[in-house]
Amino acid sequence: MAARDRAIPAARRMCESDRTMPPVPPAPRRASASVRVSLEPSSRIQYLPGVGPKRAELFVRLGLTSLEHLMRHYPRTWLDARRFVRIADLRPGEFVTVDGAVHSAAAIRTRSGRTDFIAAIEDGSGAHLGLYFFGQPFLARTLRKGLRVLVSGEMDPFERRMMNPLFEVVEGEVEALLHVGRLVPVHALTKGLTARGMRRAVRLALDEAAGRVPDPVPAEVAGARGLVPLSEALAQIHFPEDEQRLAAARRRLAFEELFLLQTVLELRRFALAQEGRGTSTAGEGRLAARAVAALPWRLTPDQQRALEEIVGDMRRPAPMHRMLLGDVGSGKTVVAFLAALHAMEQGHQVAFMAPTEILARQHGATLEALAAPVGAAVVVLTGATPAAERRAMAARLERGEPLLVLGTHALIEEKVRIPDLALAIVDEQHRFGVRQRATLAQKGVIPDVLVLTATPIPRTLMLACYGDLAVSTLRARPAGRGRLVTRVTGEEKFPQVVEFVARELAAGRQAFVVVPLIEEDGRADARAAEAEFERLSGHPLLRPYKVGLLHGRLKVEARQAAMDAFARGEVHVLVTTTVVEVGVDVPNATVMVVENAERFGLTQLHQLRGRVGRGAHRSVCVLVAGPASTAVGRQRLDLMSTTDDGFKLAEADLRLRGPGEMWGTRQSGLPRFRLVDLARDEDLLEETRAAARTLVESDPQLLASGHDVLRQTLLLQYREPLEVALTG
Ligand code: ADP
Ligand code: MG
Repeated sequence: MAARDRAIPAARRMCESDRTMPPVPPAPRRASASVRVSLEPSSRIQYLPGVGPKRAELFVRLGLTSLEHLMRHYPRTWLDARRFVRIADLRPGEFVTVDGAVHSAAAIRTRSGRTDFIAAIEDGSGAHLGLYFFGQPFLARTLRKGLRVLVSGEMDPFERRMMNPLFEVVEGEVEALLHVGRLVPVHALTKGLTARGMRRAVRLALDEAAGRVPDPVPAEVAGARGLVPLSEALAQIHFPEDEQRLAAARRRLAFEELFLLQTVLELRRFALAQEGRGTSTAGEGRLAARAVAALPWRLTPDQQRALEEIVGDMRRPAPMHRMLLGDVGSGKTVVAFLAALHAMEQGHQVAFMAPTEILARQHGATLEALAAPVGAAVVVLTGATPAAERRAMAARLERGEPLLVLGTHALIEEKVRIPDLALAIVDEQHRFGVRQRATLAQKGVIPDVLVLTATPIPRTLMLACYGDLAVSTLRARPAGRGRLVTRVTGEEKFPQVVEFVARELAAGRQAFVVVPLIEEDGRADARAAEAEFERLSGHPLLRPYKVGLLHGRLKVEARQAAMDAFARGEVHVLVTTTVVEVGVDVPNATVMVVENAERFGLTQLHQLRGRVGRGAHRSVCVLVAGPASTAVGRQRLDLMSTTDDGFKLAEADLRLRGPGEMWGTRQSGLPRFRLVDLARDEDLLEETRAAARTLVESDPQLLASGHDVLRQTLLLQYREPLEVALTG
């Protein structure tokens, strides 16, 4: 009773303060916020009957600090325990529910010293059913002789018993079952928090507060689509009455996830379109035409079209926000460079940002060569640029000289002033942060932004994540490239792989050997690279050659030195981690060996493979499946050898691994969908996009009173991207 009393004021407070946390357990950036909340024992969850402050900490560990969080902790899946059978009719291997009474119960000690719990139930059908619970002696308090109990599980084929079944003790009428005899939700848990405890807490939260969760989807949007009310969706997603209601709930909540994201994208798009700069930043293209004439090859039709699209945007008064999407080796750099010349012809400055210093310098060298025939000035400004040189460059930039300046993101974040910046090119970056854009805007310029990416992005993901970006695509690879074949093999064939590498080296070629990706752990990656470096350096077949080592733990200078030595051909085999994934261009490299290839995403493998096949020689990518790889893993790899269409691979990746894993969470910057499955929910994507567009066109700052909750929710969840759109 006391617990109930405590719960009431808590529930009343919910409306004001529950909303101070974002409703969706959020991206890492906000993790610190949950930690702070955990220090004050203010979580509403603790006031739920049977929870209390200590248990509430367990919920905090899952990022759940409010009743709404709890209600939005959607199940991972549901067990169908709706079939009731009599014990006498039980057959092994069927997942069913039995309604009986406890006939006997006892804790027993096993030989290994553990205490388990066993019980038997009967239902008047003439047979008993044994229950066996590992290491849960405390169940003696719950499953007492004579009590009515419902049990869901599968009967063991050899002994007439169920191991660790779901159960629910029923006193009085059977009302809403939580743990058995229904579609039973399976939630993500943490150590110390049981599935039963979670279900109970969610049920209590729903009973107390489901009706008061503010709905971010405006009534006109939900109404027009016949979406079920939010409170019903929340209740049914956890404790569905049947499949139809579950599907409707899922659809309602998935709609919300996508709708929020699409609204953000539309708001941004709308706001960007309003930002008049008022002038064109592109010249007529005389410089670019001269540069093209000086190229040893001709632009592909795709390159030409992309350039026209980009320049078309630059001529408009609103700033460009465009992505140039091209498979590896499709020739994005030269397109970006020609766009830069259009701006420089008008006397403007251009910044070209690469993800690493090494790549900035490599691009610098490429672009200098391209720029020399037309006399355009290219400078490289990185952390490694000597101070005196740096000052000189800064002075030239300050004077407004029309320079193409290369660097990393530090270029725009540091104090470098680029007063007449007209175009910012961002290479190999999946999301040009709005923060960076804002930084530029603060410096008084709103440049055109061109994002280059070699990661093929499926159309659905593209719409979901970059709905506000215009896209130009390079599909065809430039002609004159040697063939690139992909072979899949097993670890046991490694000696043959080394033999093959040695043959290529003997023919004057070079090879990359990429070591397994060890999840998110740069240190372990580096160790693996070092070990492989030792193994290959000592290999008799490779003795005549020089093996190099490159990984992310090396200092920038060491990395640069390793890369340079490989590019100059002084190092023949480069053992490396995925740091080599982006942008490195060594046309003489014809072999790419990827070890434990099953650990990589297809998109990532495709990126790695793109490091070879860049010259005129035939190239080979060897994917070595590790001993632990499964049949499915092997199949995935086989897909690599049958297609070199990066877009197809990306679609497959999306289907097989989901968006979060496509690029590895480290660099993805993708929203974390919980119910949305982009591979399946394409129609929902289109629908939410249309809804968001209509809404934003009618109320571009979400000022209408019916859009209050939406506005608040978006500001909490997407604060950063919205700074531009909603707060001007
Ligand atoms: P990516 O799109 O992967 O960044 P790059 O821009 O680095 O590709 O181009 C890869 C290579 O192809 C470069 O060496 C570049 O000089 C060359 N290249 C670009 N366009 C063409 C073309 N139209 N014909 C032949 N080679 C080209
Ligand atoms: Mg490139």
